[in-house]
Amino acid sequence: MHTLLVATPCVSLSRTASSGPSSGFPHPLPPAAGHTLGIDMGRTVEKTRAGGQWSEAKFWSFVRSNLRKASLKWPPRQQAMAAARRALTKPVGRRKGEYLCAGCHEWCEGKHVQVDHKIPCGSLNCAEDLPGFVTRLFCEVEDFQLICDACHYVKTGKERRKRATSKKKKPAKKTRRRKGLTESRRIPNLPH
Ligand SMILES: [Zn+2]
Repeated sequence: MHTLLVATPCVSLSRTASSGPSSGFPHPLPPAAGHTLGIDMGRTVEKTRAGGQWSEAKFWSFVRSNLRKASLKWPPRQQAMAAARRALTKPVGRRKGEYLCAGCHEWCEGKHVQVDHKIPCGSLNCAEDLPGFVTRLFCEVEDFQLICDACHYVKTGKERRKRATSKKKKPAKKTRRRKGLTESRRIPNLPH
C-alpha cells in the first residue's frame, strides 16, 4: 500500500520509494536521507524538502508566494499602473489620482483596482510548472491591465469555472505508473 495524497503530477513520490519495504502503513518509518513522513490534516505527507521538514506542497507554496511578492517590484507592472492613472483635478483627501478599469471603463480609486495578468499565471506546484509560471508572472507591460474589484471578481470567477470544466473532462482520479512509482494527482492550488 503506497498512497500519497500530495504528490504532484510531475514529482514522483511514493512511500515505498523513500522508505523501502513497508512494515505496515500508517506506522511511522525511520526517515530516509532527509525524507520524513508527517501527518497533516489526517493525511500522510512526505517531507521531501528542507532536510525533511517541508512537504512538496509547502515548498511550492513558499516559492509561489515569494515570486508573487517579487513581481510587485517588476517595472512593467508599475508602468501598467502609471499608464492607467490620471491625476484628480481636485484631490479628495490624500487621494490625488484614479485609475481606469480596462473592464468597465470606469475611473476608480486606487484601493479598488488590481493589476491583472491578461493571461493567468497558472499553477506552480512542481519544477515543470516553473518556466511557464515565471514567464506569465513577469510579463511585459502590454500583458498587464488594471481592472476594478468587480471586474476582477467576474474574470477570476470565469477562469475558475473554466479550470473546473477542463478538470471534469479528465478522469477524476488519475493514477499512473511512472518510473516504477505510483503517483496520485493533487488538485492544484488556485492562483493567488
Ligand atoms: Zn471594472
